[in-house]
Amino acid sequence: MIAKTFHPFGFSSVILNFKCICGNLVESEEGLIPSPNLAADNNADSYNCDEYPFFAVCDNCDENYEIYIYSGMYDAYIQIEADINEDLIVINTI
Ligand SMILES: [Zn+2]
Repeated sequence: MIAKTFHPFGFSSVILNFKCICGNLVESEEGLIPSPNLAADNNADSYNCDEYPFFAVCDNCDENYEIYIYSGMYDAYIQIEADINEDLIVINTI
């Protein structure tokens, strides 16, 4: 499982580009950034995540990646259950 932080402020959604385990370049569908829990006492408690993931499907090997977005007071991060290189994930904020 990998996670990568990004700055969500002023944006409503993200699209990810990354390299699949097969080497093919994959683009995710658009994932909505949830609202953080602004009533939380600290940043760690403020992360909010939608119940359902959004997906990226490789059109070469049909690998299906489930992606979750956790949004907090000061930042946000995406989480993918996959063994891919997080440094090569590009997070496009929209
Ligand atoms: Zn693939």
